[in-house]
Amino acid sequence: MALEKLTLAQVNWIDEIVPHSEQFDDFYFNTDGGLQEIEHTFIQPNRLTERFLECRSEQAFRIAETGFGSGLNFLAVSSLWLAKNPTNAQLHFISFEKFPMPLADLQKAHQAYPQLLELAEVLQNQYPLLMPGWHDIWLFKGRVRLTLWFGDVLKGLPECDASPGSRVDVWLLDGFTPGKNPDMWRPGLYKEMSRLSHAQTTFSTFTSAGDVRRGLQAAGFAVHKASGYGKKREMCFGQLEQQRPYSLKAPWFSRPEPIETGTAIVVGAGLAGASVAYKLAEAGWKVTVLEEKESVASAASGNLAGTVHPLITADWNLRSQWYLQGFEATLRTLLPWLESKEIQGNLRGMVQLLVTETSLERVKESLIRVGLPEALAVWLTASEASEKIGGQVTAPGLFFPNGGWLNPPSVVKRCLQHESIRVCTSESVNRIENNSDSESRQAWSVVTQSKKQSQALEADIVVVATGSLNADLNAQLGLPIRPVKGQVSHLEADQQTFPLKYPLTHAGYSSPCGNGRAVTGATFEAPDLGEVVSLEGHLTNLATANSALPNWINASAESLQGRIAFRPTTPDHLPIFGAVPDKAWLQEAYLSQSHTHAVYRYQAQRYQKGLYVSNGHGPRGLMSVFLAAESILAELEGSALVQPLSLYHASHPARFTIRQWRSGK
Ligand code: SAM
Repeated sequence: MALEKLTLAQVNWIDEIVPHSEQFDDFYFNTDGGLQEIEHTFIQPNRLTERFLECRSEQAFRIAETGFGSGLNFLAVSSLWLAKNPTNAQLHFISFEKFPMPLADLQKAHQAYPQLLELAEVLQNQYPLLMPGWHDIWLFKGRVRLTLWFGDVLKGLPECDASPGSRVDVWLLDGFTPGKNPDMWRPGLYKEMSRLSHAQTTFSTFTSAGDVRRGLQAAGFAVHKASGYGKKREMCFGQLEQQRPYSLKAPWFSRPEPIETGTAIVVGAGLAGASVAYKLAEAGWKVTVLEEKESVASAASGNLAGTVHPLITADWNLRSQWYLQGFEATLRTLLPWLESKEIQGNLRGMVQLLVTETSLERVKESLIRVGLPEALAVWLTASEASEKIGGQVTAPGLFFPNGGWLNPPSVVKRCLQHESIRVCTSESVNRIENNSDSESRQAWSVVTQSKKQSQALEADIVVVATGSLNADLNAQLGLPIRPVKGQVSHLEADQQTFPLKYPLTHAGYSSPCGNGRAVTGATFEAPDLGEVVSLEGHLTNLATANSALPNWINASAESLQGRIAFRPTTPDHLPIFGAVPDKAWLQEAYLSQSHTHAVYRYQAQRYQKGLYVSNGHGPRGLMSVFLAAESILAELEGSALVQPLSLYHASHPARFTIRQWRSGK
């Protein structure tokens, strides 16, 4: 599903202080007393102060708002949450915005509220890229999670999961008056509200228009009128009275049951395994990481440099949406480590050279159809690109200001440096067994073979992150992963005529990797599984680099060192992560049934409880493993998804089997 190009808000400033929407000819909030209006219209009718005081649960308190606007509601509610909630619980605020405000307007709107300025600055500093789709940011020391959907609310709501731990506690219906914005106040809005609510869910809105009240009632809400704020005569508020039945749209991708925090075994100490181990350890799990090689990060995650950047497609397709989220998740975790020099790399920019007609056309089309904001990508002519890189390049390209390069082994090591993580190297996994038939109190046994002995380790959960080369294990788990061999060539400082000022991608990639050295590559040599660095590989890498950077390399292929790794690729070029389905049950409940029944007739998916995977990260592991790790943690906790539903489904371990069956093949 491609997302529509964003149109930004056109804000008129009345008296330089009051924001007014050009698109809707309406005010964002009351011209006198914006905060009192929020108190009257949203905070009091939903009893937010009392409910925040009472909220002690481990689960988040979830508020959803139609129309983020300047974020004033969000700031006022967050401020109340921080002042009143006595625990470490999390406020999860989801807001939908079809016409996002440019940052400068957002900042200007906040200036009128000095009491919120401290919080406002935190929001301004993390305001997401103005790109369509879902953005997650964690604010105020993690006490508040803001999920912002940039796009129409009626497209965003169906992307929200209605599992028990994801339901909305309070709806704030903002979004301009129905007379001026009839497109938003549609029956689809109220139906989605009902799907995502629970028995105690409340709502309030500044309007009491008859259509709105009837729409809410038809969707199962009890609706009460009250006097409105300021000049508004009436408003309405209420509670879910009766939930209408609804069925899952994709029962085969339904979410697994949560599991209580305990012990975990992670198999594989590359980027995928290390990132999961880290996120689990941070959440209180005791983690053992098993690695068959003698050291961590010794397979696909062992290269000296990997590039980090968004993925541009002509129509901002599912993969672009996926990798923008993955990129944001990576930056969230890694920027602080980069700043404190705990990992090696540089995320202050990178260049994508458009060396083929196809890539050039794709980007030109994307600039028109998607409208890439400059904070994401800036167009460079070939001479501008040459200036950026510090030497001649042969093609125009894009500059990604937040992209760059990272040294994957340093990321792996930093992740594993946690007091709740124990790393065991030279431990080759023979079998992973479910203990349900034994007397063991832990759900899983992992039988390993080290040089000296065989042993069985036990844990509540197992996460398999073994990459591409363990074909038996991948087949056992039903993962269609193909290893694609790649050789990189290493260049010493004196083998380059100039140092690259930024990393770049072309038909391959060339990147600095610290101390004046650089890496260039990588070959694509599937189905070869040979592990010896070859002269042919270096020759290919030199030819690829020379065609993009004709004057850069000053070395013969014979003089080069290099490295071989295998990218774990999948048929649809997206990673695979999450709970592993119960194979026999999947066969019985879906594959042996007709694929043409109405969706509601199929049962929800069943999983091998406590067994997870994170694999298939291909050449883009740096842009996907942290999102995968956050997603697995959300499954374990039963908390809200870290992705919109369509991207969650696109990452599901059963997707290939299910797609084939559903297409009748
Ligand atoms: N809550 C906001 C604040 O605190 O600043 C004020 C919201 S303003 C009254 C209404 C917002 O709804 C506008 O920003 C507008 O762009 C947005 N909006 C209108 N129609 C929408 C739609 N169909 N989907 C998502 N947002 C929409």
